Amino acid sequence: MIGQCLCGTVQFKLTGSLPSFYQCHCRLCQKVTGSSANAGMLVERAQFEWLAGNNNITSYTRTTGYRVDFCKTCSSPVPNLLRTTELVWIPVGLLDSPEGNVVIHLHSDSKAGWDTLPADAPLHKTMPSLDKLHRFLSADR
Ligand SMILES: [Zn+2]
Ligand SMILES: [Zn+2]
Repeated sequence: MIGQCLCGTVQFKLTGSLPSFYQCHCRLCQKVTGSSANAGMLVERAQFEWLAGNNNITSYTRTTGYRVDFCKTCSSPVPNLLRTTELVWIPVGLLDSPEGNVVIHLHSDSKAGWDTLPADAPLHKTMPSLDKLHRFLSADR
């Protein structure tokens, strides 16, 4: 599975069995995307490989620790290795041919008033631990 940013400078490859996706509706993810939510997934570090452009990435971290890495040329959010884990966060919108579904919505309490969440999707009012989220997204469906 290949992913790339808007301008194509940053490219990466994912291998192996890939997990499902989540959407985060927190205010920070709304600002990062300029939209109602961020769509992401978590893969093991061994499943992830940079193909190009990883020297064209810059990073912004809030004092709270919320971090976004993005392409210096086109500002697409790009994958980042999550602190203290062996997991890599992947922005699903960068994947060329994503296979899978959003299976959980995080921070549903701050979802945009103009966004409608599916009635059958699990909602999480805040953010579960990364381990718990990773297990949930990796479960066979
Ligand atoms: Zn780019
Ligand atoms: Zn968020």
